[in-house]
Amino acid sequence: MIRQVFHRIRASGGAALPALLALSLLAGPLAAQELTALARFNGAASTLTDRGDGTVMRLRISQPVPYRVFTLDDPRRLVIDFSEVDWGSATARALDQSDNISGLRMGLLRPGWTRMVLDLAQPMRVESAGMRRLANDTAEVEIRLSPATAESFAASAGAPEGARYDLDVDTGLAEDQASQPRQRQMGDRSVVVVLDPGHGGIDPGAERAGAKEADLMLRFALELKEILVRRGGFNVVLTRQEDAFVPLEARMSIARDAGADLFLSLHADALSEGLAEGARVYTLSDQASDAASAKLAERHDRADLVAGVDLSAQDDVIAGILMDMARIETAPRAVRLAKMLVERLSATVVVHKRPQMEAGFSVLKAPDIPSVLLELGFMSSPADMARLQDVEWRARAGAAVFEALALWAAADAAEAQLLRQ
Ligand SMILES: [Zn+2]
Repeated sequence: MIRQVFHRIRASGGAALPALLALSLLAGPLAAQELTALARFNGAASTLTDRGDGTVMRLRISQPVPYRVFTLDDPRRLVIDFSEVDWGSATARALDQSDNISGLRMGLLRPGWTRMVLDLAQPMRVESAGMRRLANDTAEVEIRLSPATAESFAASAGAPEGARYDLDVDTGLAEDQASQPRQRQMGDRSVVVVLDPGHGGIDPGAERAGAKEADLMLRFALELKEILVRRGGFNVVLTRQEDAFVPLEARMSIARDAGADLFLSLHADALSEGLAEGARVYTLSDQASDAASAKLAERHDRADLVAGVDLSAQDDVIAGILMDMARIETAPRAVRLAKMLVERLSATVVVHKRPQMEAGFSVLKAPDIPSVLLELGFMSSPADMARLQDVEWRARAGAAVFEALALWAAADAAEAQLLRQ
């Protein structure tokens, strides 16, 4: 029989709560069949309410699962990871009744792990966190938050070992397939294209009329991969194959490990006002083309914060000069790719009236790989939205991208051969 499990850790004083709370939960003689079905989240029975100056969160799950709780600073967030949970139709808005929580979201972090991220309106510490099994074999996670000073919050914040998903992404490539640094292609081999469907998992991207940018872009990326592979000349690697979160750094690591000749990030924007429509192509620049481009870069770059990734420990000390030197060679190659994309897309589908732009997208910052970001359309435009959801339109857009990449690959190979002489 399964023993009653009640696991609770109480933090004393201002001490940081041990980060990994309940992985030991499954160490006991838990029946194997308990683990086969995905645990379901019961939003209707879950609550998040203020008590005095603190906040109590009670989350109901159909069975006990391993989980962990930690806080992150700048901006202040509470992160709860669960072994994969089916969120069902639970919405963050229905759950959140607390003034101390300014935002809440949940979703798949990576296969096997789901995450809930709460934006804290003020510094709060985890006073206690525990999971208990209820009479009907369901489970309840209770987390109590109490006010903290900014200093003590900052001191105890940080992702535990094992929660730094940004550092250990499996690219799916065998060791011997990874070649770095890679020779520029000279027309003598297949061109390696890395397609990067924006967002995913806990970070849905823009949302309009029940559609998520993350889903639309994954679908387009999979279809584009088909086109590129079928027409020939390209090897295609995707930064994600499913609705899972991939940090921005990891997307570039995947490109580098794949020996990418070019990196194409796929997005669709949504504006709160205006009638903008059509595709746009962006290359990296410190100076955005205009304020709207700067804002767009900000929206896409929020992915890691949205998903509760700890950026504080990332090594910022990079060989800046070497990177700049690599960019001197790479930047014009990316601009050439952007030009060709605009040219082929405008011949086939609708492009924005200012189709070629620059902005400071983090995902374009690989110094050694020509990288371009394609905004396929505006989800805020009903016409663009209909196009994005039309399989025939996507096939035409995909064919235009293929033509652009083929033209680019030929021109880029010719340039590489010239440089070699
Ligand atoms: Zn996006």
